Amino acid sequence: MSELSPYFCPKCGHYAYFQLSRNALCHRCHIRLRRLEMSYRTFTDMDLIERDRLITRKIIEAAPSLAGTISETEEADNHRRLIARLTSEYENLTEENRKLNQTVEWMHDTIWDLLRQRNELKRMLEDMQAAQK
Ligand SMILES: [Zn+2]
Repeated sequence: MSELSPYFCPKCGHYAYFQLSRNALCHRCHIRLRRLEMSYRTFTDMDLIERDRLITRKIIEAAPSLAGTISETEEADNHRRLIARLTSEYENLTEENRKLNQTVEWMHDTIWDLLRQRNELKRMLEDMQAAQK
């Protein structure tokens, strides 16, 4: 019988133990969990803070856009930097969302204009047809 290995979800940070990697799925995110390259014993010997730190680092490593900005040597600053980075990313997304909403509003207005024009043309056409009779 093979040993249990620790796995983590790069999306939500959930972790669990499996014997077979094909069973290692995140039941929340429905994605494949990643194996932590250590034994079950080494992982369970760590306290909760150490586990959190390790998985936080693994999540950062798994996110290519974040990995480049946070190096191993900056580990002590990791949480502060990560939160700063995520905050600015969140602000960018909020701004992007605001722009998208504006675009949707603009498109909505344009569609109403087009519908109004279409109805006017239809009315004009009907008037012309009526005048021919
Ligand atoms: Zn997950």
